[in-house]
Amino acid sequence: MNKFFTANISDADPIISEAIDDEVRRQTNGLELIASENFVSEAVLQTMGTVFTNKYAEGYPRKRYYGGCEFADVVEDAAIDRAKQIFGAEHANVQPHSGAQANMAVLMTALDHGDQILGMNLSHGGHLTHGHPLNFSGINYKVADYGVNRETEQIDYDELQRLAEEHKPKLLICGASAYPRTIDFARIGEIARSVGAKVMADIAHIAGLVAVGLHPSPVPHCEFVTTTTHKTLRGPRGGLILCREEFAKDVDRSVFPGVQGGPLVHIIAAKAVSFGEALQSDFKAYQQQIIDNARVLAETISSAGLRLVSGGTDNHLLLVDVFMDGKGITGKVAEKALDEVHITVNKNTIPFDTNKPFVASGIRLGTPALTTRGMKEAEMKQIGEMFAAIIREPESEEVKNRVRGEVAEITAKFPMYPTRLKEKRNETAGR
Ligand SMILES: *Cc1c(COP(=O)(O)O)cnc(C)c1O
Repeated sequence: MNKFFTANISDADPIISEAIDDEVRRQTNGLELIASENFVSEAVLQTMGTVFTNKYAEGYPRKRYYGGCEFADVVEDAAIDRAKQIFGAEHANVQPHSGAQANMAVLMTALDHGDQILGMNLSHGGHLTHGHPLNFSGINYKVADYGVNRETEQIDYDELQRLAEEHKPKLLICGASAYPRTIDFARIGEIARSVGAKVMADIAHIAGLVAVGLHPSPVPHCEFVTTTTHKTLRGPRGGLILCREEFAKDVDRSVFPGVQGGPLVHIIAAKAVSFGEALQSDFKAYQQQIIDNARVLAETISSAGLRLVSGGTDNHLLLVDVFMDGKGITGKVAEKALDEVHITVNKNTIPFDTNKPFVASGIRLGTPALTTRGMKEAEMKQIGEMFAAIIREPESEEVKNRVRGEVAEITAKFPMYPTRLKEKRNETAGR
């Protein structure tokens, strides 16, 4: 047998093999609270590592530019059908390599170069692809932005109406990366129609909640809906576009040949598997637990005296103001202190932040990943208390040692990826 087809990673490439093993241990032994991350099933993981990675399948099912696509067609058809079924959409494109690519394709579909868009400000919870000056969306289009109200820290829909009338955008962009509240897609749809704009709703973060009806769906109210597949939806890294039939051809053409070449068939296969999981009845219970966990985490942290942006959460994430006008610590310091006790989070700007983005006043926390591991309210309460203890005394080695011990205890109770977890040999330290 040709060795090329038989050698496993540890023989073929010890450096990468060891990094993979280290990463399995890091994910297993830490508390993953990054709101945009999740753990895919073993089935999804296996599907990504298949020979579909070898296949070129430019085009769409039964309209390909390459031969040998009959099984790629099976995979892509399944992914499309399941996506449409989950979200009740007329058309789905499952080829975007990422959420950013999905948004790029929609902007290309809905706009001409230089057209006006109206998107949510990044520092108020929006995303780079909604009009940031360094992103294609800010470079190619004229941008106006909206944000949250200074008092409520929630989207001010009256102000959005006023800005829509003032700027007359061709496309209104909604959806967010760091917004802990329900988004009123029906109202946004009305605002857009009142000024003749189309709407792109980017549900990258909340797609899983939308899939099971625990967040109102934008599909009936918005011409275009985009999402990532790897956040609450719990699939492989990738993007997805949903739209009405009237835009189907244009959207497909924008994805390929507009912004991409060959689709990642192995990833589309994994998307199909994860969509299958999302259609099973226990997916709703999982999403409900994400929300319940976020609520308990929010209550615990708030009771410990820390301030939550907007006062709480309706979804899977919370934004904690750890800076508190200089009385607390910066997001940057908080992120590092938490990292040292194996609690993984990201610093995040808060609305009207006085710190720069790389310093930031907030920490964003999300529960999708730990909920996948099986953690529930009791663990969230414990984790919220550990979080507050670290924020209160980020320098205390005593607190850090205690929390490290608690993290090890909790994570040991919720094992994952048993077949991928290998004991670390020849070393006593490390995590
Ligand atoms: C994560 C995210 C994206 C981008 O996803 P990538 O796959 O990282 O490109 C787009 N929009 C929003 C709102 C997001 O949160």
